[in-house]
Amino acid sequence: QFQATGVQTCFHDRHIGAQIYAGLDGTNWRLADYEARGGYQALRKILTEGLTPDQVIAEVKASGLRGRGGAGFPTGLKWSFMPRQFPGQKYLVCNSDEGEPGTCKDRDILQFNPHIVIEGMAIAAYAMGISVGYNYIHGEIFKSYDRFEEALEEARAAGYLGDKIMDSTYNFQLHAAHGFGAYICGEETALLESLEGKKGQPRFKPPFPASFGLYGKPTTINNTETFAAVPWIIRNGGPAYLECGKPNNGGTKIYSVSGDVELPGNYEVPMGTPFSKLLELAGGVRKGRTLKAVIPGGSSSPVLPAEIMMACTMDYDSIAKAGSMLGSGAVIVMDDSRSMVESLKRLSYFYMHESCGQCTPCREGTGWLWRVVDRIHNGQGKATDMDLLNSVADNIQGRTICALGDAAAMPVRAMIKHYRHEFEALIPGYVPKTPAKA
Ligand code: SF4
Repeated sequence: QFQATGVQTCFHDRHIGAQIYAGLDGTNWRLADYEARGGYQALRKILTEGLTPDQVIAEVKASGLRGRGGAGFPTGLKWSFMPRQFPGQKYLVCNSDEGEPGTCKDRDILQFNPHIVIEGMAIAAYAMGISVGYNYIHGEIFKSYDRFEEALEEARAAGYLGDKIMDSTYNFQLHAAHGFGAYICGEETALLESLEGKKGQPRFKPPFPASFGLYGKPTTINNTETFAAVPWIIRNGGPAYLECGKPNNGGTKIYSVSGDVELPGNYEVPMGTPFSKLLELAGGVRKGRTLKAVIPGGSSSPVLPAEIMMACTMDYDSIAKAGSMLGSGAVIVMDDSRSMVESLKRLSYFYMHESCGQCTPCREGTGWLWRVVDRIHNGQGKATDMDLLNSVADNIQGRTICALGDAAAMPVRAMIKHYRHEFEALIPGYVPKTPAKA
């Protein structure tokens, strides 16, 4: 089931994985536990062995780590954009504003392994010459916020944060900020606005945050899972991380598998793992049912029919080649009992509700999409509605300030492309243009 709030309560605490989730049982999140797992050794290695910022960035580049928030942008390259010699304050921001329907990995990283994010941020800040950082945490995630705050206190007391970290000359102050639950604040510039105490609305880009970010200063923003991957990379080397996955798709990735599976939960597996294997880990499709479709990367990513999805591996390139996006790694599984019209109705309502209203195509268009899909679902659709849906999606996509407009339009196109017959069948008197599937 989709969860309109972006916070899932139906998940089991299943943490299967090698690098971020390894050995977590819900009780071993404290500093001593993290240190026993090798925690803060990467930061110590940098500071005691005197690794230069360039060497750290080179290691991250060699790892092939790509942003885990959804865009998949190469992390090392992003870090190299930060103007190192900038004379004023620079900022590091962790985007823990996890709100994409289907995604619930970051809240679990913060709750079950908070120090890995702190260490990853401290390493990133060192590499970019930054002395102040913020972790912006989704407003509906209370337990994770409290846990991260506790971990911050432990790290400060142990000398892993603050001035002269581990008796070096390196200073880094890190703070947690709690959002108010708006989906749009996961968009990086809306997040910055919110962090500054303003209404969370996306900014026009350019300028990009690397030159004009928090309080107008150079800022680097990465996702929680991205920072969490960094300590392992520094401890084991970039090439070793790359080898865990496949070329251009280094390391492991956490997938939040939800919907019609026996064991919904978070699974950390190597990049390039066959989808069929991930489905198997999640207990397979609900008993007595067959796989119909999968939304592979959060609700913004286009739906893929079962036969296409079963041929995919879980990495950026394979999913893109199949016509969708890996996104945040929220895998929503739908069995043969699901109505695609009803699914799209719920998705469209979500985007209409979460539009910040700043630009007309998104503000008006998301409402049009929902109203048209709603009337089709209610059996009151018109013969022209299929063309109307495509036209509205055309007039949103690529014409808005931020990607929410695209995120609302793309699922509509994909649903119509693959399941048009389900929509047509609900429109009274509609003469189908496509043969109905059995
Ligand atoms: Fe706001 Fe939508 Fe425009 Fe993004 S696309 S700025 S959410 S109105």
